[in-house]
Amino acid sequence: MNEDFSVEMRLPKGCPNCGSHKVTVSQAQQLDDIVFCSSCNTEICDYQAAKQMLDEMPRSENEQLIEDVVNNRKPSSTEE
Ligand SMILES: [Zn+2]
Repeated sequence: MNEDFSVEMRLPKGCPNCGSHKVTVSQAQQLDDIVFCSSCNTEICDYQAAKQMLDEMPRSENEQLIEDVVNNRKPSSTEE
């Protein structure tokens, strides 16, 4: 029984609660599955929105900074 099996992803947008970029989604990855923060289990968005974020992920640090400004957030310092 692997019903609770989940996969970890990394989103460009950090958790609104703890700032972590690591999220967990069910292995089934249905579009309406909820994506949770891996650190604090905050509900981030649904999988469809997460996929969209990944599609739009900035390819350079400059774009990352621009997105951080758009999101009204300081550049993340939690990079690993
Ligand atoms: Zn969190």
